[in-house]
Amino acid sequence: MGDAPVHRLGVTGWPVAHSRSPAMQNAALAALGLGAAWRYELLPIAPERFAADVAALPGQGFVGVNVTIPHKEAALALATDPSPAARAIGAANTLTFRPDGAIEADNTDAPGLLAALGAPVAGRTALVVGAGGSARAAVWALGNAGAAEVFVWNRTAERARELARAVGGTAVPVLRSADVLVHCTSIGLDGADAAEALGLDVAAYGTVVDLVYAAGGTPLLHRAAAAGRATVDGLEMLVRQGALSLEHWTGRTAPLDAMRAAAAAG
Ligand code: NAP
Repeated sequence: MGDAPVHRLGVTGWPVAHSRSPAMQNAALAALGLGAAWRYELLPIAPERFAADVAALPGQGFVGVNVTIPHKEAALALATDPSPAARAIGAANTLTFRPDGAIEADNTDAPGLLAALGAPVAGRTALVVGAGGSARAAVWALGNAGAAEVFVWNRTAERARELARAVGGTAVPVLRSADVLVHCTSIGLDGADAAEALGLDVAAYGTVVDLVYAAGGTPLLHRAAAAGRATVDGLEMLVRQGALSLEHWTGRTAPLDAMRAAAAAG
């Protein structure tokens, strides 16, 4: 009797070496007792090779992949079966290869953000800062969850207006207060203080969410905590979006604590 086939999973991006997803997802698979039969791998794929390389993955035993920068739009484009959320957001972070050859695309960043928030957003106002891929997912998620108003501000104002036209929300020309702030720019990856860089007054928000994650938390979240505001760490959103992808592929309930521990150690 040969070895049982390994169900392969992975994360594709360019570059992607820094990703915490393999450590987080393999810890989850191990905690579920699936470590022998499932494996989650790092899949660096250059943009010009994305469509061809992804098309070959099912033949290599892949069940599905997460997709990160810069492939989220391309992932949606090659899907045969995109979810309504992925279509509305215009980007996919999860592909699933079905045995019949269909490719499902989903966006778990959106429900992952809502899960990380933990408290209902219905009836609350939100300001999304940024207009890239993650901001699109955030605006769609908050609007769909019944937020009273979703404002969008971006350094390049036209991109905020374009986002609002495509996904919803209201583009605003200056930063404004709201119940929930969702920071979706890339400031902070290198330890920079997004509040200082953007002129954000954290006291103007009840809850501050930073999609950027850094060991020990970002300066933006430290400021918000010091001002007595509720904070949501980008690592929690990473865990939640990954958990939703894993549950979709395996049909099992994701072990969140094992994933949090591995993500934080990554
Ligand atoms: P993206 O599509 O590249 O968008 C980048 C955004 O940052 C744009 O709005 C850009 O504004 C803004 N920006 C960059 N530098 C700036 C500066 N110096 N001042 C003002 N604005 C600046 O990126 P993304 O995919 O949305 O990701 C954004 C961040 O979220 C990344 O750090 C990513 O790691 C993180 N993220 C985390 C999770 C999670 O699970 N926690 C999920 C997705 C993304 P312009 O339009 O003016 O250039």
